[in-house]
Amino acid sequence: MKKIFEPHWERDREAFFSKVDFSKIKTPSYVIHEGVLEDNLKILKKVKDRTGCTILLALKGYAAWKTFPLIGRYLDGVCASSVNEARLGREEFGKEVHSFAPAYTEQDIREHLQCSDHLIFNSFSQWDQYKKTIMGCNKKTMKGNNKNNNEKNKDRTIECGIRINPESAGAENDLYNPCAKGSRMGVTIAEFRKHGDGLDGISGLHFHALCEQNVDALEDALFRVENSFGKYLKRMKWVNFGGGHHITRKDYDVDRLCRLISTFRKKYGVQVIVEPGEAVALNAGVLVSSVLDIIENDGKIAILDTTAEDHMPDVLAMPYRPSIIGAGKPGEKKHTYRLGGLTCLSGDFIGSYSFDRELKPGDRLVFQNMAIYTMVKNTLFNGVRLPDIVIMDKTNKVVHVKKFGYGEYRERLS
Ligand SMILES: *Cc1c(COP(=O)(O)O)cnc(C)c1O
Repeated sequence: MKKIFEPHWERDREAFFSKVDFSKIKTPSYVIHEGVLEDNLKILKKVKDRTGCTILLALKGYAAWKTFPLIGRYLDGVCASSVNEARLGREEFGKEVHSFAPAYTEQDIREHLQCSDHLIFNSFSQWDQYKKTIMGCNKKTMKGNNKNNNEKNKDRTIECGIRINPESAGAENDLYNPCAKGSRMGVTIAEFRKHGDGLDGISGLHFHALCEQNVDALEDALFRVENSFGKYLKRMKWVNFGGGHHITRKDYDVDRLCRLISTFRKKYGVQVIVEPGEAVALNAGVLVSSVLDIIENDGKIAILDTTAEDHMPDVLAMPYRPSIIGAGKPGEKKHTYRLGGLTCLSGDFIGSYSFDRELKPGDRLVFQNMAIYTMVKNTLFNGVRLPDIVIMDKTNKVVHVKKFGYGEYRERLS
């Protein structure tokens, strides 16, 4: 198979972003670059074109809806993990909405009937509980007299699936490993066998087993899925491979992914769905911040106008050390600093970095790969103002700025 990778933008995103002028951006700001985003989308589109699979954006990781029209030109829809995400997908993305949650309330189901196309259940007990409601709604829809659906959605029927747990190796960190021992995610084969003959109304199986992984991890998961659930696969219309595929990462083996998907499709006669979050906006945005103060305690500490706790929570949750354009590891360059955030949390440190020049108040620091799992996850702890969301077009021109203020803080309380 010919290599499908034809980068439009520089693959080295640090080199690319180091040439972008952020000096006019008010800090702190998340800056999304449409050029890089589109480059990622082109890679994903090629996977679609090569294999005929469906690719959805996982809103959990990235939901900057101003960019949905661009994403919608390349991808098929979104996957949602709550009613709110599903509604955002329906209203702002306007294509397919596939939903999964560890459990649904009756109210959730009623709302999902309005905005989801696929509903995936985490257990047979939940499926049994809501099966009648959903089938009833589908029947009405088919007769075309469902008052709940608007004209455009008249033919919409909800397809239901079961999330399975392939018990594959998964991610190393249990916080992000849906296949860890004792996981609450998905039906294991031992449980599935007890219900496997009652699959009426189930049109697909879903597994989500990866986190930031290459195609070898998918291969392992698929091997487990086929071994354990093989006899059920042929009865399905679709199989959803979940997210965690780092498809747009430099070293990702896109060709091998295409071969895997095509082979699986042919073998089982199913539609294959992939729902990456990270890969869609990987390295497509940065967080621009400013130094506010320099203090000393067991080395130099720079206090920034951003915070790990509020603005980049995965830095503390994972934890990991985000990279900064032009900065080195501690001790690598002449001046080393610990970078600290604006909240009163004592551990609100982003990490240690070194710089060629001494830092001083007003200096700008640009954190890389900050479009994903930031805007969707940030908090208002301590009432610290949220960063602006800035969108730059392909020519590095700012085309959109969303500001946040006191309103968001007050609205979340009563
Ligand atoms: C988190 C998640 C995704 C997206 O994962 P990424 O790691 O962002 O690609 C997709 N599907 C499900 C069910 C998820 O929980």
